[in-house]
Amino acid sequence: MKPSALYRRIQSRCNAIFTRAITSLRDTLGHQAHSRDFDYARSDYLCSRVTRLALVFLALLPFWAILDWFILPDASLKAVLIGRIFMVVALLVVLLMARCGKTHPQRSRLAVGLLFATPALFYALVLAVMPERGLSLVGYGFIPYMLVAMLAIFPLTLIESAVCGLFLIGIEAYALHYDMRLATPDGLQALWLLAALLSIAITANYFQLTLMLRLYREATHDPLTGLLNRGALRLSVSQLMAQQPRSKLAILMLDLDHFKRINDNYGHAFGDEVLSDFTALLHQHLTPTDMIARYGGEEFVAVLIDADKDQAMQAAETIRQATANRQLTSYDGTPVTYTVSIGVTMVQTDERFDAALQRADNHLYAAKETSRNLVVGP
Ligand code: GH3
Ligand code: MG
Ligand code: MG
Repeated sequence: MKPSALYRRIQSRCNAIFTRAITSLRDTLGHQAHSRDFDYARSDYLCSRVTRLALVFLALLPFWAILDWFILPDASLKAVLIGRIFMVVALLVVLLMARCGKTHPQRSRLAVGLLFATPALFYALVLAVMPERGLSLVGYGFIPYMLVAMLAIFPLTLIESAVCGLFLIGIEAYALHYDMRLATPDGLQALWLLAALLSIAITANYFQLTLMLRLYREATHDPLTGLLNRGALRLSVSQLMAQQPRSKLAILMLDLDHFKRINDNYGHAFGDEVLSDFTALLHQHLTPTDMIARYGGEEFVAVLIDADKDQAMQAAETIRQATANRQLTSYDGTPVTYTVSIGVTMVQTDERFDAALQRADNHLYAAKETSRNLVVGP
């Protein structure tokens, strides 16, 4: 291999690795980069884990209360038992939030935060009501370590994990200060250990979230076009309808005309290129909040959010014209054009999505029957 070719190969490989690293970091840093459907799926995972852990904490609480009895000095016992009652209430609130979190991602994140804050604040309370400073925290000193390690159980983003972790390190610093050990080698070693545990938890979060995103994308997106598949579209629409029942939804059902001929004349691989080209065109003419799915072979569905009938018809007409003006070049150099037929409808109030989809399909059928390369709407 020539040196220049080798250099180009190394350069392109480095570029690919760099791009993948940046994408992966963007995916795992915060939830803002996640699609709406993934945000819901992750919330579902978070809520199921929060529920289980909250139930475990609730089941262990009576045993901890008995332990309090043995460990704590009489002077602080009453306050700690009141703290335990607050903990039960907080955990019940966590369970309630986790129930709603499946349809409200914001609440699922709050439920995780409260799940971690509850034992951490309880721990701070135990310290505050201790009658003597410098008393050994036998039976409680493990709480910050346990909570930081627990972060690894959740598919948290790096920012979420870091915020929780730093809060817990702060609580431990307060405990060490209370214990009069903060500025001692012993205290610094304790903080160091906690920071090391946090970095392991964040690494586990990173790998967990990356794997979850990959599996989720493979299960919900079409590999050729990267669009949502049929099942994921239905799920996304039902989640949207549950969260924003008042939003106006328009459906565009799009089918490429005589696509079989393109495959027959120019080959299946070129047919795939046409599908990718049409996908790029859809992205170009629809907004990022609109949902676009590959519904079948050469059949696509776009759900426009907060669009009225006229806007939906206008969007469909723009897509139809842009498609008719496209020109690709086949593998043997022949110029190739293609067209699309589109059925448009609005989802009526309290109507099932499937019923509206059927109407869009009927309009698409009418467009095919009339002439193809046509938009038929309400
Ligand atoms: P009409 O205008 O009535 O829609 O005609 P059509 O030829 O587009 O429709 P038809 O349903 O007869 O053919 C669809 C073709 O799409 C047949 C199938 O081979 C092709 N197809 C389905 N999936 C893919 C794919 O992933 N890649 C390619 N290249 N072709 C596909
Ligand atoms: Mg077709
Ligand atoms: Mg078809």
